Amino acid sequence: MVTPEQQESLRKIKVIITDVDGVMTDGGIILGTDGQEFKQYDVKDGLGVTMARKAGLKACIITGRKSESVTIRGEELKFDGVYQGYFNKVEAYQVMKKEFGFEDENYLHLGDDILDLPLFGIVGFSVSPADGIEQVRTEVDYVTTTPGGRGALRETVELVLEAQGKLDNIIKELTTFD
Ligand SMILES: [Mg+2]
Repeated sequence: MVTPEQQESLRKIKVIITDVDGVMTDGGIILGTDGQEFKQYDVKDGLGVTMARKAGLKACIITGRKSESVTIRGEELKFDGVYQGYFNKVEAYQVMKKEFGFEDENYLHLGDDILDLPLFGIVGFSVSPADGIEQVRTEVDYVTTTPGGRGALRETVELVLEAQGKLDNIIKELTTFD
């Protein structure tokens, strides 16, 4: 459940930042003998990013790892920014803030592990997937009911859109064809 205070914070969100491993995936990495990495994403999250964009929100990835899979997924979903290889996520956030402007209260971060903790302390709203590690789940403003790789990003997008009174219209827009 979202408290009135949380509702107020969610109304100010303009940028949704998400981690990849353990959030857009279940944390699993399939490593081929040639070194190629495979990750499994959830299409529900993909549509979630489309919904966010249609609502005028920005969506960005910040991840500590670097992989071609994330580059491809990031381009496919038209993320507004993909920051890979940042163990220090605050550093990536500062680069992002320079580009987008906005205040800290306008950013939301969704992450599942300790590398996400420093950013949680800065942004206006913090979210963990249902299966984030305990230190994360106890730190964030909101824990999704869905686990990483199973729609946690989608649930987060809908949480923001619902608080901003945009969800019904976006669903209508995406399901009306003429
Ligand atoms: Mg992670």
